[in-house]
Amino acid sequence: QKEKVACFARKKIFTKEGRRILTFANIGGLKDLEIALENGAEGVGLFRTEFLFMDRGTMPTEEEQFRVYKEAAKRLDRKTLTIRTLDIGGDKSLPYLKMEKESNPFLGLRAIRLCLKNPEIFETQLRAILRASVYGNIRVMFPMISCMDEFQRAKSVLDSCKQQLEQKGVPFDSSIKIGMMIEIPSAALLAEKFAKQVDFFSIGTNDLIQYTLAVDRMNERISDLYNPLHPAVLRLIQMTISAALQAGIPCCMCGELASDERAIPLLLQYGLNEFSVSPGVLAEIKSVLLQSVGS
Ligand code: PEP
Ligand code: MG
Repeated sequence: QKEKVACFARKKIFTKEGRRILTFANIGGLKDLEIALENGAEGVGLFRTEFLFMDRGTMPTEEEQFRVYKEAAKRLDRKTLTIRTLDIGGDKSLPYLKMEKESNPFLGLRAIRLCLKNPEIFETQLRAILRASVYGNIRVMFPMISCMDEFQRAKSVLDSCKQQLEQKGVPFDSSIKIGMMIEIPSAALLAEKFAKQVDFFSIGTNDLIQYTLAVDRMNERISDLYNPLHPAVLRLIQMTISAALQAGIPCCMCGELASDERAIPLLLQYGLNEFSVSPGVLAEIKSVLLQSVGS
């Protein structure tokens, strides 16, 4: 494993046509980031910020969040840092946040829906991200977007946070890139429309598969039906990548399918240029990618 890491960590990947393929890491905090960088991550494609909020008794303050995002940005030294806003709900809850019991939590008040209903939590996080954005190459990403209105509302909250900081003379990257997860079939089906409004996509296959096939990603009794290579799933992925290419925006994949050896050649063929995987499998995936592009 060590040899593999050393061998692949610094390699740059190009397709035969000269397309640059980037390998990013999915992280849940600074510890993961360290492993990611040791393993040659060229950036972070997904920072799951919910882990900063979990396993504690109170909401992390703006200052606490700012410090973590800033540290991550600095350690990445101008490499891309994609910070996803809070994705709570579904299977994840916070002990200090009162949440109504729902009969279908994965179809309920989750992720961006919860944030839009709790503007204080959302704004606190967005201000922390904006303030950290002067220390590196940060981009913001909204999870679980299902319709255009949701994206526009999230974006306008970000705009108002920018105004708040501006008024106080607090510096931030005013041209910070704003992207969205494509992890709900409605978003994939409307990828062409979204691509005109957002700066980048990231395909979350874990949820996209669950919602497309109506198969709970956590339920072992139906795991045989959770088929990442289902033609309907592949078609949605292809549509998303094509829409991004057409609009000239970057498209990443941060779901588990990005590290599925069976899918990688197909994803490259679809035109996917950014693969974001868990830090532990980066070297392995780089080697599969290199093989797939034939170098
Ligand atoms: C996904 O849904 O594929 C994804 C990357 O997000 P999460 O696994 O955090 O829901
Ligand atoms: Mg998801």
